Formats: sequence, C-alpha cells, structure tokens
Amino acid sequence: MRAGLTALLLGLAVSANSAETTGLCEGESARARANGERIAQEWPLRSSGDALSRYTQSLVERLARSSQRDRIPWRVAMVHDRAPNAFAAGAGSLYITDGALEFARTESELAAILAHEMGHQISGHFCPRERSGFFSWLIGRSDDMAETSRTDVRKKDLGSISLVIDPVKEQEADRQAVAILREAGYDPHAMLDVARRLPSGDRPSHLQDPRRIRSLEASLSPVPSIKIGESAEFQAAKRDLAAELGGW
Ligand SMILES: [Zn+2]
Repeated sequence: MRAGLTALLLGLAVSANSAETTGLCEGESARARANGERIAQEWPLRSSGDALSRYTQSLVERLARSSQRDRIPWRVAMVHDRAPNAFAAGAGSLYITDGALEFARTESELAAILAHEMGHQISGHFCPRERSGFFSWLIGRSDDMAETSRTDVRKKDLGSISLVIDPVKEQEADRQAVAILREAGYDPHAMLDVARRLPSGDRPSHLQDPRRIRSLEASLSPVPSIKIGESAEFQAAKRDLAAELGGW
C-alpha cells in the first residue's frame, strides 16, 4: 500500500552563486549540502546520468525557466522507492521517488508534484527565520528544528533527517505550484487532482488534507483547465519505469 506523497528532503551541492542572485537565505546552501550528504548515504538514489533523472531534471528546469525562477540552482534527485513521495531540502534541492512518477497519470500531474516542491523553496520555507517563526515543513536534523506549539504541524524523523509538514506552508506551496504550472503551459488543475488522490490517514506526510483541497478548489475555480497532449519524454519515462519495475 502506498504511503502518501510525503515531503522529501534532500540537500544537494549548491552552485557558487551568491544568495543575492539565487534568493537563498544565509547558510541555506551549507545546510542543504549537509542534508544532501546524509541523504545520499541513507537513501538509494538514482545517478544523475540515469535517463529518468535527466528527464525530471529537465522538467524542473523547464518549469523554472517559464516562471522566471531559474536563478535558483535547481537539482532533482530520484529515489529508488515505490512509495510516491517528493521532498525539498533547501537551496533548490528536490527529491522525487520512482513511486511519484508511477503515481502521476499525466505530465501535468508530475509537473504539479515537482512545482509544489519548488513552491516550498520559492516561498522561503528553508530560511531560519521561517523555521523559528510559524515553522515550515523543513528538512534538517531534529535538533535544528524550531519548536512549535501548533498541533497541526506534523513531524517525523526519517533516518537522521526530520520531515515537517505544516498545513499553512503546504497551501503556500500549492499557490506557487498553480502559478508555475500556468506559466509553463501545464494544466493547473493537476495540482488539485494530485491533492485529491493522495491517501488519507495520519502519517506525517503529504496526505490528503481537506483544507488544502478546499483552498485549491477556491483558487482554481476561475481558472480554466488546459488540455495538453502527453510529451514523448513523459511517455518514454513511464514506459521505462514500468519495464524496470516489471510492470510490463
Ligand atoms: Zn509540501
């Protein structure tokens, strides 16, 4: 049974660009790099040269270019895991599992999953000020996490990394994702489709959240759907993954 789309965190090496040009917070790159080193030790990652890794990286770069968010040094790593999860780790580092690609029925849905994680980054959810404020779903060691008295913020330790899901920040990331999808020519309603299809339950991950769904329904009600054909790249990625997993 699938776990939900969780937040994933990973940190990757960050480019030498200054915070001034990338919009990153002070110390964010170092924190993300440290997280990335731990994740690389603990999670089974696909190599950056893997065809599926290259496809998801190119998709994020397309989303970033079309939304003029390409100052951030986006890096996507794919995780060999059938559970549909995606995470952001700060400094532009995103993680997405094999299961998330399997979960996505259309390229718009896959773009929505990635755009949501980009939304965490763009919203500044990896800044220390945010962490000590009303919190974020952040990644970092437990002892790096700020304390919060809110009862709707969920936290779970994944190995040496902590994952935090804050419903407020989830909605912020969704709003960013909708904007990114529209600017990139993908169907923005795919974000709602993904949110609705997440499993319900009490695991501290990106599970189905009625508030999140209501917020998306409200923001998308005046927005028309976009019907697009599936790209050859998406179809090839789905086919390659299915073959690899033995589904075909
Ligand atoms: Zn999220």
